[in-house]
Amino acid sequence: MDDFSSDSDCTKYWIDWFLGAQGNEFFCEIDDEFLNDRFNMTGLNSEVQYYQYAMDLIMDTFERECDDPTREQIERSARHLYGLIHARYILTQRGLQKMLDKYKKGDFGVCPRVHCQRQPVLPIGLSDVPHSAPVKMFCMKCEDVYNPPSVRFASIDGAYFGTSFPFLLFQAYPHLIPNKTSPERFVPAIFGFKIHEHARLARWQESKRLELNKRLEQYEEEERRRKRAQ
Ligand SMILES: [Zn+2]
Repeated sequence: MDDFSSDSDCTKYWIDWFLGAQGNEFFCEIDDEFLNDRFNMTGLNSEVQYYQYAMDLIMDTFERECDDPTREQIERSARHLYGLIHARYILTQRGLQKMLDKYKKGDFGVCPRVHCQRQPVLPIGLSDVPHSAPVKMFCMKCEDVYNPPSVRFASIDGAYFGTSFPFLLFQAYPHLIPNKTSPERFVPAIFGFKIHEHARLARWQESKRLELNKRLEQYEEEERRRKRAQ
């Protein structure tokens, strides 16, 4: 460690190790700035055992001697804590940008549905509550949810990505919304299943469509009236 005395920003041992570990390919690197802001950590100390030690481990400032079982527990807590912070971080502008870069690189894989023509997918949680369900993949083209292509993601908690992340990303970058596979909004799939967010999104889209139709009708009515008045 002697070689890296002053520039702690450049070398993050724990985070680098975490991001490089098998199965963690969907995570992005959380900024120091975000990690150092206590406000961002609100409520997490009650979620994570050995919270402060876990935080120190993530920040490479953990310097306590402890026995192996304790050390192992702190390691586990650090991984859990990173995931919980990650879920918050990827909803920020900076986090969305980082996940967008990964999306563009195809780090999350592509939709298994043939008609989607290798549309890149995004990680999604079926719940925001930890330990509910492993991470799934969301395709914006068919608006469906799939299991990740490899079993190594089966132990990655969906809550580390959350239920609203893909929708926020497309809200922030609407030009990336792909053309839909089919005019029907939902095509039953053998791989996929409906989720709350999907249903909510469909409802939202439907209400927007009705709103737009109503506005168009009003506009046409006004046009007709104007023409009659002329
Ligand atoms: Zn698809």
